[in-house]
Parts: sequence; structure tokens; C-alpha cells
Amino acid sequence: MKYQPVPDYHMHTPRCNHAVGEVREYAEMAIQRGLKEIGMSDHSPMPNGFDAAWRMDAAELPDYLQEVEDVRDALAGQLIVRVGLEADFHPGTEDVVQVMIDGYAWDYVMGSVHYIGDWAFDNPDEEGRWEAVNVEDAYCDYFDLVARSAATGMFDIIGHPDLIKKFGQRPPAGSKRVDRAESLMLEAVKASETVLEISSAGLRKPVAEIYPHMRIVEKAAAMGIPFCFGSDAHAPNEVGYGMDACLDILQSCGVDEVVAFEKRQRRMIAIREVT
Ligand SMILES: [Zn+2]
Ligand SMILES: [Zn+2]
Repeated sequence: MKYQPVPDYHMHTPRCNHAVGEVREYAEMAIQRGLKEIGMSDHSPMPNGFDAAWRMDAAELPDYLQEVEDVRDALAGQLIVRVGLEADFHPGTEDVVQVMIDGYAWDYVMGSVHYIGDWAFDNPDEEGRWEAVNVEDAYCDYFDLVARSAATGMFDIIGHPDLIKKFGQRPPAGSKRVDRAESLMLEAVKASETVLEISSAGLRKPVAEIYPHMRIVEKAAAMGIPFCFGSDAHAPNEVGYGMDACLDILQSCGVDEVVAFEKRQRRMIAIREVT
């Protein structure tokens, strides 16, 4: 490790139907890798069975909370374990999501855009639909949805802020429309005082890049938007994955601290090299 580990706030459990490992295993891996703090943030239930195959059922939420609380309490003194959630921003579901947010003393709630209309653009099962869309439009629609998610003020963190690039489709180089959509997204993040996640997950995907692109990190840093780190671990072995690479990008853009959360309150943690 080049840097002293910072909190990793993005990891899942098998309840979402596409992750493996118990919370305890994620936590033990974090301790083994020298992390002081993690947060679980499994895919939240959504109304009316929406995208049910890729998330926990509402009936599983109490069990999720219990498992995370049990590990948090058992490891107190060794590792700080935060209780979070990765909620979806999908227009029309805000009221139900807000009830869920209000129903528990979360340490943080991440808001992620995984859908444009009815298209799960990052779902491998729906990758074929990329062939029928205009890539520039898809990027603009995506950043517009992220901007709207921030503007709701419902979320503490914007998850993987340019997930749209996951499978490697790119808009035309120098697209003014995409540049403008990106900037409007960042303005909404800034105005709502939301935190951007810098995520190593993209390094494990076809795009093979950190989310968000360094250009976005640079713009956000210049605007004073804060960041937190997430590996988006779907298996214990992915805890803390790519942390040094993400912190390198933050440092090179002049960001020298990341956000830590407790009961939706923030404190800043300095990024420090291991000496
Ligand atoms: Zn997932
Ligand atoms: Zn996600």
C-alpha cells in the first residue's frame, strides 16, 4: 500500500443475488488489509418488484441490518463498520425510497443510477441494447439522471458517477453536449452538497477505468466537491481493491482528504502516504 487506508463504503451481500460472502468475511478481509473503517451498502429494495433479481427483497432488509449491526458490535475496537445502503435513483420511486431512508438511522445512503428509463444499461443481460442507442444521448441522459438524483437531496453519496461507460462505449471525442451534461451534473452535486464516490469497480469491468474519469475528478475538485472511496466489492476479496490507484487520482487533482460518515454526519480524513 502506498497510502494509509481510508474507509471503503461500498460493499454488498448475497441478498442482492449477485454477490458472495458474509458481512463478517468482508470485515475480516478489511482488517487483514489494514483498513480501519468500512461500510456495507447493499442494493436496496425497490417498489413493486422493480429489478427484483438484482437486489434484496423488502422482507430481507431487517435481516441485512441485523447482520451488519452484529458484525459492527462484535468487531468494535478492531474495525469501524458503518451501516449504509445503495439506493437507486429511478424517477417515480422517490417517495418509497424516502420512506426507507427515513425508517432507519443509516450512517450514509448512496444514490446510484443504474437505469435509463426501463434500460438497465450496466446489466450484462441488457448490454445488447447498446447497439440500438445513440451513445452521446445515453451519456447525456445518464448525467441528467445523476444530476436529478443529487438535486433530490435524498442521498449522501453519488455512487460510481460515470457508470455509463462500464462496457466501454464512448461518446464522440470532445462532445460539447456530454461536456455540458457532465458540468450540469457536477453543479447539482455541488449545490446539494453531495459527496462523489471514487470507485475502483470500473477497473474490474470492460472499460478498465476508475469511476469517475480523471477529467470529472479534476472538474469536481476545482469546485470543492468532496469524495469518498468505494471498491463496490461483491466478494470479500474485493474489499479495498484499487484504493491506491483511486487515491493517486485524487492526489494528482489536488484532493487531500476524503469523507467519513457516521449517522449521516461527515468528518474529513486526510490522505496520507505510508511513511
Ligand atoms: Zn451490485
Ligand atoms: Zn451500483
